[in-house]
Amino acid sequence: MIIKIPREVETALNILHTNSFEAFIVGGCVRDSIMGKVPSDWDVATSAKPEEILLCFNKHKTIETGIKHGTVTVIIDKMQIEITSYRIDGEYTDNRRPDDVFFTDKIEFDLKRRDFTINALAYNKNGIIDLFGGFDDIQNKIVKCVGCPDERFNEDGLRILRALRFASVLNFNIEEKTSDSIYKNKALLNNISIERINIEFNKLIMGSNYQSILLKYREIIEVFLPEIKGLSSEELKYRLYSMKALDSLTLRLAVLFHKIGSTDEILMNLKYDNKTVKTVKLLTENINEKIYSDPVTIKKWLNRINYENLSNLIKIKKALFDYEYEELTSSETIMEEIIATNQCYSLKTLSVNGQDLIDAGIPKGKNIGMVLNKVLNEVIEGKLENKKDILLNYIYDKGMGLWKQ
Ligand code: ATP
Ligand code: MG
Repeated sequence: MIIKIPREVETALNILHTNSFEAFIVGGCVRDSIMGKVPSDWDVATSAKPEEILLCFNKHKTIETGIKHGTVTVIIDKMQIEITSYRIDGEYTDNRRPDDVFFTDKIEFDLKRRDFTINALAYNKNGIIDLFGGFDDIQNKIVKCVGCPDERFNEDGLRILRALRFASVLNFNIEEKTSDSIYKNKALLNNISIERINIEFNKLIMGSNYQSILLKYREIIEVFLPEIKGLSSEELKYRLYSMKALDSLTLRLAVLFHKIGSTDEILMNLKYDNKTVKTVKLLTENINEKIYSDPVTIKKWLNRINYENLSNLIKIKKALFDYEYEELTSSETIMEEIIATNQCYSLKTLSVNGQDLIDAGIPKGKNIGMVLNKVLNEVIEGKLENKKDILLNYIYDKGMGLWKQ
């Protein structure tokens, strides 16, 4: 088995070897390479201690953010490579990183602390180190704990969710003992910080096998998301199936979380960022509204919730409601046409603005906005052309806006 390692990573391994240290690529990059996938990043494990890593790379730019836990980021030809000293983890009481780490010069110990056999492989030019059968588990598509599942989940409960995440993303099955232990120990997720849960949960629902994993392990998800208990299995199945057509996390969340209580509260509790919370709230609030396929209605929608939100709303409604599919498709075409031809649907695109009205003698104040919105409505309804002189004449003729004498 030969893994093609990027030149920059090869350089890092060579520098460590030249300084008489051991060094391997480890974890996700070995797993992905064996699967024929391009790894998102390349992690290196070494027998060098953090200060020794710094010395080896004193001619390179290094970042010391993780140094307490043994990690130094080295930049080689613009590529960031995380180099971590072989370590044994202490307890994870803060639920993010182990309280203490102990450095070791044996790769065996470093691999033993890793969560799953598929993530516990190391590789360098001398070959692969596979102490726990990870290579075969990758071939057989199995997620299996390194060592005793009950013990490993008790050390760090997040591993329960990570198992589901890897099974979803890689399309793997969870080995029986590991799976039994996941059910048995699910309450351990209560001890885990929501920030860590959030990261794994997002990866899980974006993974290729999320449907069967979330159905099979729904009671695990209910530990941190009790709101989904209200969904019948038919309804949950249907929502998960509908999510497939959507390729963004925000849209998948909107489908999963609509009408199961206060969507924004659920999302805030799960520590989603403000933009996601706001967007999902708006989408779920409007999910049952009809979007009739006529230009006036579509312009009013665009004015109310903007283009990005309306296209997303149409997407999730199309995914959920088959019987509205055709009408939504024509609404979508009309919307795209309005945007492509720069038609007016908002105050921003109206040919008069507040200053124009002030210049024309309308006193500053609330009525400016009222006049503009009235005129916008006439333009949207096709009763007025969106031209400045036409709009100003109309305003003048109607005596709108209390002209100054
Ligand atoms: P991805 O491609 O999604 O980043 P990954 O396997 O690299 O997958 P990371 O979360 O980046 O996953 O972790 C890197 C490696 O660190 C893992 O492959 C695993 O060996 C180890 N690891 C990460 N988190 C844990 C944990 N909670 N317990 C034990 N080992 C872990
Ligand atoms: Mg990674």
